[in-house]
Amino acid sequence: MTQIHAKFLTDSEKKAFDTDHRATIAYNVGRYDEAVLHGKMQYSNLALARKRAAMRKHRVIENLEDHLKDFEYHFTRNGGKVLWAQDVDEARKAVLEVLEKNYVRLVVKSKSMVTEEIGLTDFLEKNGIETIETDLGEYIVQLSNDKPYHIVTPIMHRSARDVAKIFHEKFGLPENSTPEEITAFVRTTLREKFQKAQAGITGANFLVSGSGSVALTENEGNGILSMSMPPIHIVVTGIEKIIPSIEDLDLFWLLLATHGTGQQVTVYNSLVSGPRKRDEADGPTQMYVVLIDNGRHKLLEQIPQRRALGCIRCGACLNVCPVYRNIGGHTYNSVYSGPIGAVITPHLRGMEEYKHLSYASSLCGMCTEACPVNIDLHQQLLQNRNLSVTQGLPSKWERWGMKTFKKVMSKRKWMDMPGAGLKNFGMRLFFGKSWGPRREMPKVAPKSFGDMWKENHL
Ligand code: SF4
Repeated sequence: MTQIHAKFLTDSEKKAFDTDHRATIAYNVGRYDEAVLHGKMQYSNLALARKRAAMRKHRVIENLEDHLKDFEYHFTRNGGKVLWAQDVDEARKAVLEVLEKNYVRLVVKSKSMVTEEIGLTDFLEKNGIETIETDLGEYIVQLSNDKPYHIVTPIMHRSARDVAKIFHEKFGLPENSTPEEITAFVRTTLREKFQKAQAGITGANFLVSGSGSVALTENEGNGILSMSMPPIHIVVTGIEKIIPSIEDLDLFWLLLATHGTGQQVTVYNSLVSGPRKRDEADGPTQMYVVLIDNGRHKLLEQIPQRRALGCIRCGACLNVCPVYRNIGGHTYNSVYSGPIGAVITPHLRGMEEYKHLSYASSLCGMCTEACPVNIDLHQQLLQNRNLSVTQGLPSKWERWGMKTFKKVMSKRKWMDMPGAGLKNFGMRLFFGKSWGPRREMPKVAPKSFGDMWKENHL
């Protein structure tokens, strides 16, 4: 068992029995569930919208190279510059070079999971560039030296009281400050940063290959300010974010809003296609898109699993997942958590180290049912398991255990051979670690299930 796997088991065990955590998540997910139910009512045929979105994403993924070239061509023609990055180091270096060349000392940044993936904020801070998260949730994450808990709602694990405490400790705000008071304080603090920043960094929800545009959707307006106030705008995003045309946004923007937060449409939806033109009054004078691979091509090579590249990062699969709701976002030890994280992380960060995430699922299929782009997540988890076996990654003990299990389960007489006491002993001996110390083993049964069945049915 790798160290990462062992940590995952210890952390899950701890989190699953943390009743405060469970109550906070249940409350926040409960609110989300209500909103989504309402949001979905705007569709007369949601199944059709999902099918269309899945088809469009599928076509893009199958022809990704062509779409990327198309995006670069159009974006460059609009006056922007595309910077290609194979991995984390190349991506960080590309951003740093732009900032250093322009003597940037202060960066405002909007929420982006890809920048989390490459650890950009810490990296820039270490290189002497002040980098401020401007999304309220991410700002709180930054203030508390935390990590985002969820791909859409980074502080889902925090209650209003927790947040008030953070602002009390950091800025001396009253301990019982309301969310409105905290928001007003943050707005004033950040406004000054927006005015002074020499560069803004954002992610992208979609990249439109047909027009070379970047589509960004958000609820606070901090994304618009990050991309339009400073003289330099850098977009950091993954190569899979492509959609073919602007017309596709009417489908994707709405599906993302509905499944991400339960809104009919997100408050701010921006589309930018390059730096300010000569006759334009505002906007940045330089614009870059850093396009990151960082393992995505490995996923593309796996034909059944490549569908996962169609993910629009709405977070719906996390919210419905019984495993995520119990063990929480941080336990996955990956920027992408929940079912989609369990599918893509082993490809992005290594099957050997992260294959256990694909096993951490009950395969109930709730994630697949929730996904707005019809990614068959529970099937993908099985595909990953299959791949890890094909690659010979399970340990000698796991292989031996599965072989024995298969043999015993294939014949009734093998199953009934050891008594209940011996079965319990064997379970404790061989699976004690995964079973954990808190669960009760079943008491010794007076009769086997087979015997009871015979008595009642034969
Ligand atoms: S896999 Fe589907 S449900 Fe999960 S985040 Fe991506 S788009 Fe949303």
